[in-house]
Amino acid sequence: PTNATNVTAIGQTEIPSHPLPSYLNPNDLGPWGTFLQQVDRVTPYLGNLSRWVETLKRPKRILVVDVPIFLDNGTVAHFEGYRVQHNTSRGPGKGGVRFHQDVTLSEVMALSAWMSIKNAAVNVPYGGAKGGIRVDPRKLSIGELERVTRRYTSEIGIIIGPSKDIPAPDVNTNEKIMAWMMDTYSMNQGTTSTGVVTGKPIDLGGSLGRREATGRGVFTVGVQAAQRIGLPIEGARVAVQGMGNVGGVAARLFSEAGARVVAAQDHGGSIYNEAGLNMPALLEHVSKTGTVAGFEDAEVLANEAFWQTPCDILIPAALEGQITELNAHQIQARMVIEGANGPTTPHADDILNDRGVLIVPDVIANAGGVTVSYFEWVQDFSSFFWSEEEINKRLVDIMKGALDAIWQVSAEHNVSLRTATFIVACKRILHARDLRGLYP
Ligand code: GLU
Repeated sequence: PTNATNVTAIGQTEIPSHPLPSYLNPNDLGPWGTFLQQVDRVTPYLGNLSRWVETLKRPKRILVVDVPIFLDNGTVAHFEGYRVQHNTSRGPGKGGVRFHQDVTLSEVMALSAWMSIKNAAVNVPYGGAKGGIRVDPRKLSIGELERVTRRYTSEIGIIIGPSKDIPAPDVNTNEKIMAWMMDTYSMNQGTTSTGVVTGKPIDLGGSLGRREATGRGVFTVGVQAAQRIGLPIEGARVAVQGMGNVGGVAARLFSEAGARVVAAQDHGGSIYNEAGLNMPALLEHVSKTGTVAGFEDAEVLANEAFWQTPCDILIPAALEGQITELNAHQIQARMVIEGANGPTTPHADDILNDRGVLIVPDVIANAGGVTVSYFEWVQDFSSFFWSEEEINKRLVDIMKGALDAIWQVSAEHNVSLRTATFIVACKRILHARDLRGLYP
């Protein structure tokens, strides 16, 4: 394929065929391939705006950085870091930073694109971005973790900033890491800049309610969707994959609302208790040991058996690509609420849709985190801080309003909630694109 525009005999310019950039191997696109398929599915619904759809298929800006640090033993280690700004049509880039040994560029590209969709779906004034470092943070000492974080922040410092691109926590990153990122950026700028990252500690310009926001959002849209399909939360059986900041909070809120969390799985193993896991005890166990494995008041479950657990609501809240054509047939739930980003492959999506399992997609279900990140950023800019009550109320209002609108689009076009969310979001992004026009 060639990027050159063909010129016809009569001198008219043909529309180029838009071959994908060479760094995107069409034979192995990874999670980015999933995103491209999702965009293809939504394109027929975009009307005139579909002329801009290619914009979504290429990230605006990709930065790959080398992150060298001194290990505690005096040797030097190098890690690969990324920051991808998928789209900035509606505002600055926004999205988390993930520390994981398996992080790839394709994954960060997909995650950045899902941020664009998510931010547009809940109508916060951001584009989409994401970052990551290919590192297993559990293998680092606290000093090494700080050095990796600071060097990475410095390296991506040329493209981030409170009005350019605002990182936040994601898998294996937290308030402490956000504090180091904020400090590093501020030291380089020569002025304290709290608005450069969100998910900070409260005492450094963080927001009340941010830590729980993603889980609270999962719970909020889950309850709304359950109501619509006539599934009572009281007594509903819930299975959760991932007991971190998303899965742990969502599981707790569901159990407080009268549901029974019957199964849980994470990197350490899977557990089951038909009567419902004791959530406060389980969360304490996880905070002490780092995994659900070894929790006493439950049976051990084989990892593959987790997907067959008899349950009403399944919440994947770990990594992408978990529900595939291999296990989608086995899922017993009536509803899947995607706490994780990209947990369901397009093939599995079709299988579940055909089987009548309702999927509340990531791009709306887990948007609560970035919604309160937006509140945090606004509070930092105005240096005026809101009460937790006000934050939670605004969060719930936004999540409910967004789900209502998406539900309506889904009914109108007879499409899945995922496609409906993509319709709403892509229209917003591409409309902004259209209004701004092409520079130069
Ligand atoms: N990492 C979270 C997500 O995937 C939050 C991003 C943010 O707050 O910017 O939505």
